[in-house]
Amino acid sequence: MSKTFVKTLRDAPKDETARSAKLLIRAGYVHKEMAGVYDFLPLGLKVLENIKNIIREELSRIDCEELQLTALQKPDIWEKSGRWSDQEVDIWFKTELAAGGELGLAPTHEEPITDLMKTYIKSYKDLPVYAYQFQTKFRNELRAKSGIMRTREFLMKDLYSFSADEAEHDEFYHKVEGAYKRIYERCGLGDCTYQTFASGGIFSKFSHEFQTILPVGEDTIYYNSDKSIVLNEEVVIPEVLNEFGVSKNDLEKTRAAEVGNIFTIKYKYSEPLGLDFADKNGEKKTVYMGCYGIGVSRVMGVIAEKYADDNGLIWPEEVAPFKYYLVGIGEKGVKAAEEIYAKNPEKILFDDRDARPGEKFADAELIGIPVRIVVSDKTLENGEVELTNRKSGETARCPLEDLKAY
Ligand code: ATP
Ligand code: MG
Repeated sequence: MSKTFVKTLRDAPKDETARSAKLLIRAGYVHKEMAGVYDFLPLGLKVLENIKNIIREELSRIDCEELQLTALQKPDIWEKSGRWSDQEVDIWFKTELAAGGELGLAPTHEEPITDLMKTYIKSYKDLPVYAYQFQTKFRNELRAKSGIMRTREFLMKDLYSFSADEAEHDEFYHKVEGAYKRIYERCGLGDCTYQTFASGGIFSKFSHEFQTILPVGEDTIYYNSDKSIVLNEEVVIPEVLNEFGVSKNDLEKTRAAEVGNIFTIKYKYSEPLGLDFADKNGEKKTVYMGCYGIGVSRVMGVIAEKYADDNGLIWPEEVAPFKYYLVGIGEKGVKAAEEIYAKNPEKILFDDRDARPGEKFADAELIGIPVRIVVSDKTLENGEVELTNRKSGETARCPLEDLKAY
């Protein structure tokens, strides 16, 4: 703590209304540049990286490969799909090349990845392909709000699948459902995130969204008591209710935040962009596609919003920037703390600042590390350290020499 340039702040900017944004700014995770644009500071970057690594691990389990496309986009491939037009897509950030010609900052990447795959997918032997990236997306959203939950520049994980036919696609689609379930569980959102039926556009009846129940969420969802049916408000119409065999009265209504979605897009981009392959009989077929998003920075905002109290943030274990917040009090206490820190610097945020214990405890709560360890001259009288769980507030003691095992 004595070596970082970041300091906790007493106040957040006045125009910031979301509780999560206020806390993230005050605790030193993010810095606000302007409406809908945030910098990620060292602690915030660690949280983002932890979420990314959870996603990486779960996607590699289902054979996805990571790549990175560019943010800069030229119009021609987007003109083929009809999405260069500002009437069609109203959130483009566009500019001009010095050498002449238009350029856009990618709000999503279906077109460039479909075009890229034309170089590599020629035959049924080249399929399936599952490729994803973590990329900064730019969207000129009319209203940026809720802190990092809706921004004009944000980090998305976007995965694209390229299959020979519907059956091959469906099999993978179900695997992604499983991977997403594990990702949200590991992010601490498992028991409040539901796979939701949403409108699917023109090619498939429904898409699936992953909605986290949240009072300040922008979406409205309807669900039955055992949550086996969860519907986005946009599909709650008589025809759909009939199909699910429920009436609106059987469903509860609540606010939620969309933390991810999965789409069957069939030939929507492969057709206009000409992504074909030769099947076993040498016949030309169009590649069957799916796309799967997760709003990585929004997930961080949703976690921050969901788990906080009056004193600060409360990070779930796997996403927390550090596992332990360490404070030494008194001469012997500080020395013992230094030794504890030296053995495990990766997992510990060591508050070695020249400050009062009360100030350190307040910052420990604000920053929201899962476990606070205090070692003081007093706890050392019994050869012990004190551990406090940020979430439950429970305190325990353990012998100093058993700390690691404990
Ligand atoms: P929304 O309905 O919230 O605008 P979307 O339908 O535009 O989302 P996609 O374009 O499919 O969503 O993006 C994939 C994911 O990226 C979303 O599920 C969401 O979690 C996240 N996301 C979308 N827009 C933003 C934004 N402006 N800021 C932060 N995250 C976003
Ligand atoms: Mg949107």
